[in-house]
Amino acid sequence: MLELRPNCECCDADLPPESAEARICSFECTFCAACADQRFAGRCPNCGGALVARPIRPAALLAKFPPSTERVRKAHAACVG
Ligand SMILES: [Zn+2]
Ligand SMILES: [Zn+2]
Repeated sequence: MLELRPNCECCDADLPPESAEARICSFECTFCAACADQRFAGRCPNCGGALVARPIRPAALLAKFPPSTERVRKAHAACVG
C-alpha cells in the first residue's frame, strides 16, 4: 500500500493525499510536480526511475488507511537553494 508521504522530499512542499501535484517513483520517493518536471525532468534522483502522478486514494478510505505523516527530506544537488 502506498505510504502517501506528506511532502516533497526536495522542496518540502505539502502534498496532501488529495493533491494532484504529487509525483512518485516505484520506491515512493515523493516529489511535487514542479520539482519532478523542472528539476529532475521526470526521473527520480534517487533511483533513476520514472516519476509518475501519485494515485489519489478515495477520501472515504483515508480514515481506515491513513496517509503517512512522516516528512522525508533528502539533500539532492538540484534541491540546494
Ligand atoms: Zn518540490
Ligand atoms: Zn526513486
